[in-house]
Amino acid sequence: MSETADIVFKNGTIITVNSKDEVAEAAAVKGKKILFVGKNADVESFCGADTKVIDLEGKSLVPGFIDAHMHFMMYALFYKETIDIAFDKVQTIEGIKELIRKAAAEKKPGEWICLWGYDQNKLLDKRHPTIDDLDEAAPDNPVQCVRCCGHMGVYNTKALEIGKITGPDQFAPGEVVVDAAGRMTGLLKETPNDMLWGYIEHSDEALKEGYRAFGDLMLKSGITSIHDAGTYGGQFVKVLQDVIDDGTFPVRMYVIYYNVLGKQASRDWIYHLIDTGLHTGLGNEHFKVGAAKILLDGSTSGPSCATREPYSHDPDLKGILNWTQEEVNEIFLDAQKAGFQVTAHAVGDMAVEQAINGIEYALKNCPKENHRNRIEHCGLTDEALIERVRELGIVPISNPGFFTINGSDYNRYYGKRVDSMFAAKTYKEKGIVTAFGSDCSVINENPMLGIYGAVTRKDMNTGEACGECQKISIMDAIRCYTYNGAYASFEEDIKGSIEAGKLADLVVLSENILETDPERIPEIKVEKTMIDGKILYERDDI
Ligand SMILES: [Zn+2]
Repeated sequence: MSETADIVFKNGTIITVNSKDEVAEAAAVKGKKILFVGKNADVESFCGADTKVIDLEGKSLVPGFIDAHMHFMMYALFYKETIDIAFDKVQTIEGIKELIRKAAAEKKPGEWICLWGYDQNKLLDKRHPTIDDLDEAAPDNPVQCVRCCGHMGVYNTKALEIGKITGPDQFAPGEVVVDAAGRMTGLLKETPNDMLWGYIEHSDEALKEGYRAFGDLMLKSGITSIHDAGTYGGQFVKVLQDVIDDGTFPVRMYVIYYNVLGKQASRDWIYHLIDTGLHTGLGNEHFKVGAAKILLDGSTSGPSCATREPYSHDPDLKGILNWTQEEVNEIFLDAQKAGFQVTAHAVGDMAVEQAINGIEYALKNCPKENHRNRIEHCGLTDEALIERVRELGIVPISNPGFFTINGSDYNRYYGKRVDSMFAAKTYKEKGIVTAFGSDCSVINENPMLGIYGAVTRKDMNTGEACGECQKISIMDAIRCYTYNGAYASFEEDIKGSIEAGKLADLVVLSENILETDPERIPEIKVEKTMIDGKILYERDDI
């Protein structure tokens, strides 16, 4: 006599992501776990009078998506108080100034005005806003106008005064941008940009509201687990635990410990954590202490990542490296000794090499089985670097959604180097486990954009291909977005695939994704999202 299921799915294309990549027809769920996966005929025995039966009509059922790198806490911070200036919202600097004027009219003098999301390559003006633009629009309020990548932003005179930023000599070359006359343009990169965040205050209530709103958005995108890539300090973690405890935030969180308020703050934060004795793995199925992270360089799209050879479009530029090798070695070793999985944001090949060296050093001096040390992004590589990633058992966290949004820019910035950027195919051939992350809020969180990027290696806006030799199958892309994400947080035994005994985190898609024309992947919708056996989202426009 079989157990009776609470919910049964049948007539589906159930992409199990088990070790054989099997596709099943039916699945049964009881309580918070998966009870059975297999054939339609065999699922009948799990159906009782109270069992809810969902006919999938051939559509795909996939494991809940695991976004292995996103800036969840950052988004929450934006939700209430930040003005969205992505290109689809505003196309000119004059338009941005208009939004600032409007905000200034509603605020008291001295209150911050925060904006996020412009891209100087997309703006019709083809330039960054300047200190003068912002001063003119809001002379009495500090203004923060952050580029979509988060690694740089423009500030007005009031904001620079608050941050005590007086000129380029306080920071590494290039971090405080000046014009030909030596006057600050307002554009800050990396450390000074990060530091300015620390002056902007947020209430617990605003954060809670942001978390809950973002949680709803995640469910709509089928994301059931998140690896958060960085906090703004203890308040952000505390409030997260509050909303998980009071049951208003259902998405599972793996909290990567990184303080975004600059290099010194992130260093202090990790040593503070080491002092507490807490380390990776503490927590439960909903909240877990994750890796300790540092930030080695800039972004792919800025571009500000640290490359060994100059960018292809500008022979004078090769990005900024934030740490010395000795500093990386030391903090990785100390964090690993204290029980942390370690990771670094490393995008350019110079930064990737530095991260690999650091991990190698830590493992040599503190050998550890099954360490799963990660590299966030691991953007530009080559054969030799990838081979070292394999040898050392590093888990690269890739962001193929970037091709979907920035592919054409990458071709311009990196030339042939795009052929080994987020090298999913090579990783697969070499048996390297890579997990996918959106890097939201840098781009939209929708996993379909990431799957599209991995499968087509195309810029969705221009149609231009970008490193086509690294294309992978839809099945493999789904694995990177599910099981491999669970692997990157040491949780593949409880989630990441549709197998009996695992947590019932499941997503119904609007069609059979395995038969979808790859060009149409971005059109696929999430119809239902289940966490812990409960359907928490159902699409209402069908
Ligand atoms: Zn990131």
